Amino acid sequence: MNPSKQSNVLIMVNRDRCGVCGCCVPVCPPGAITLHDACLEVDHETCTECMKCLPVCPTHALYEIPAKAIGTSGGRVR
Ligand code: SF4
Ligand code: SF4
Repeated sequence: MNPSKQSNVLIMVNRDRCGVCGCCVPVCPPGAITLHDACLEVDHETCTECMKCLPVCPTHALYEIPAKAIGTSGGRVR
């Protein structure tokens, strides 16, 4: 956790596309991606914006948006 973290991009999950296969969880170096009750969650405070998760998703459910697009500089968005 780094409360002063300033995000440039946020990794988002398209829940209509996500099959909750879990493939993206182990490729995330800081462990920012977790599964809770069959629901994928990305902790934006932990995410280092390395983008390693994006290409592993078989359904292209993960995508990035500019952090300023939703007016936050970190934190958890579900
Ligand atoms: S961009 Fe990197 S750190 Fe962020 S959720 Fe994806 S794999 Fe994890
Ligand atoms: S790899 Fe894609 S489909 Fe699988 S859990 Fe992650 S976001 Fe969902």
